[in-house]
Amino acid sequence: MAADTPAVPPRIAVIGGGVAGLVAAGELAEGGADVTLFEASSRLGGRIKRESIDGAGFDVGFDIGAEAFATRGGTVAAFLERIGLAERIVQPAPIGSWLAEGGSAVPLPAAGTLGIPARPLGADAIRALGLAAALRASAEPLLPRSCGAAAETLGELVRQRLGSGALDRLVRPVVLGVHSADPVALPLDRFPELTAEYERTGSLIAAARALRRHTTAAGGAVAGIEGGMSVLVEALEARLAAAGGDIRRGTPVARVRGSDDGSAGEAWRVHPEEYGDNVGGGLPFDAVLLATTERATRSLLGSAETGRETAVEVVALLVDAPGLDEHPRGTGVLVAKDPSRPETAQRAKALTHATAKWTWLARAAGAGRHLIRLSYGSLGRQPITRDLADDEVLDIALRDASELLGVELKRDSVLGMRRALWVFSAADPERSAAETDALEGIARGPIALAGDWVHGTGLASVIPGAVAAADELLAALQRSEVTA
Ligand SMILES: Cc1cc2nc3c(=O)[nH]c(=O)nc-3n(C[C@H](O)[C@H](O)[C@H](O)COP(=O)(O)OP(=O)(O)OC[C@H]3O[C@@H](n4cnc5c(N)ncnc54)[C@H](O)[C@@H]3O)c2cc1C
Repeated sequence: MAADTPAVPPRIAVIGGGVAGLVAAGELAEGGADVTLFEASSRLGGRIKRESIDGAGFDVGFDIGAEAFATRGGTVAAFLERIGLAERIVQPAPIGSWLAEGGSAVPLPAAGTLGIPARPLGADAIRALGLAAALRASAEPLLPRSCGAAAETLGELVRQRLGSGALDRLVRPVVLGVHSADPVALPLDRFPELTAEYERTGSLIAAARALRRHTTAAGGAVAGIEGGMSVLVEALEARLAAAGGDIRRGTPVARVRGSDDGSAGEAWRVHPEEYGDNVGGGLPFDAVLLATTERATRSLLGSAETGRETAVEVVALLVDAPGLDEHPRGTGVLVAKDPSRPETAQRAKALTHATAKWTWLARAAGAGRHLIRLSYGSLGRQPITRDLADDEVLDIALRDASELLGVELKRDSVLGMRRALWVFSAADPERSAAETDALEGIARGPIALAGDWVHGTGLASVIPGAVAAADELLAALQRSEVTA
C-alpha cells in the first residue's frame, strides 16, 4: 500500500462478478480497499463460462461464452502476466478462418482488420469479394476525405468508402461475429483505434494495414488460455480472495443509492435483493463500482431508460466425425447474409471449429472427435434457436454445421450438445448518450462504471477499462481524503 493510504481502508462495493467486476475488484483490493463483490448468479465469470459434456470421454471443460482475447496492444497479455497466467497463453492454430456466402465458402482474406481488407486486390480478397467489388474497394485510398465525412457508423463509413460489396461480404460478417451487432448500428466511437488511424492516414485500407502491423501474435489477432477462459476467472477470484476481498455469490443487488445523510464514509447504500425493501437503509459503502451490463446498471441507479438487449445463443456440438480432421474451414466460418436466399438470415452467424482452433482442446477430445460452436442472433435479431426444444435445435445446428463445414454431419455422430443463451445490453448505438444520462443522475459521490457497455466489447477493451476505472476510483478517494 502507498504511504499516503488512509489508516482505515475505504469500503468499496463492486456490483457484478463478470470479468470487468473481478478485474476491478482485484485492483481495488490490491490497492488497499476493503472490497465486497456482489454477484447475482451462483457462478462468477458472467459471459465467460465453462461447459462440459459428461460421459462422452470428453472430461475437459470448454468455453461456451468468450473463448479468446484480441492481442491488439498487448494489454491482455500484460495483464495475464501480472496475475501469473503468462505461461497459459496459447495461440490458435495458424490455419485461418473462412467466410460463407450462399452455399459456398472462401478463406477470409488474411491481414485485414474488422473485415476491412488490407490488400483488396490480393487473390484472397478478390476471391471473397469478386473482381468488381475488389476493384471498387481498391480505389478507396484515392478518395477525398470528404467521402464518408458525414458517416456516423462503421457500416456507413465502409459503404461510402469501400463500397457495398466490402461491407456485405467482409465487414458485416466479421463485425457480426465479433460484436454481435451490424456495423451500420455501431457508432464510429466504438472503434477508437481504427478511427484514429483513419484520421491520421485518410484511408480505411491504410488504417487496416497500420493496425495489422501492431498485431504481434504469430497465429493471428487473437490468443487464448490453455484450459479455457474460465482459468482467468478462477485466477481473478483467487487474486481477489488473497487480497482480502469478500465475494458474495448468489446476491443480486436491487438498487444502489447515494446516502441521504451524506455522512463521511457512507456515501453509498447498496441494497441486495435478499434484504428486501424494508431492511435498514441498505449496506453503507464509501464508493461503488458498477460492473453490470447497461440495462442492469441503469436499473440499479433508478434510471427509467433501459439499454437495448442483444440475445445470442451458442450451440456446442461434440461430434465423432473423422471427416473434420483436416479442418476443412480452418478455425471456423463467418457467415455473410445472402440477399438471394432470405432464409439464410435465420441461420448461424458464425461457426467455430474449436478443436481445430485450440490444440489443448483437440488433445482432450481425442482422435476423430470435434467440438463445434455455432452462434445465433445479434442486436435486433433474436436467435432462431431461442425457446426451441433441444431436439429441434440439434437438427438446426447439424444442418448449419454441415453446410458451413462442407461435411455432412449426421445425428448418430453427435456425442453431446450444450446450449447457452446470452442476453446482454451492449453495443447500443445510443451508448454515449445513455452513459451520460446515467452519470448525470448519480454524480453524488465516488462511483465508477466498468464493463463492455462502457469500455467496448471483448476482453481487450474490458480488462484495461476495468483496471483504469478502479485506479481512477482509488485516486478520487485519495483526493477526497486529502481535502477532507
Ligand atoms: C457468446 C459470446 C462469445 C464471446 N466471445 C468473446 C471472445 O471470444 N473474446 C472476447 O474478447 N469477448 C468475447 N465476448 C464478449 C465478452 O464476453 C464480453 O465483452 C465480456 O465478457 C463482458 O464482461 P463484463 O464483465 O462487462 O460483463 P458480464 O460478463 O456480462 O458480467 C456482468 C455480471 O454482472 C452480474 N450482474 C448483473 N446484474 C447484477 C445485479 N443486479 N447484482 C449483482 N450482479 C449482477 C451478472 O450476473 C454478470 O456476472 C463474447 C460474448 C458472448 C456473449
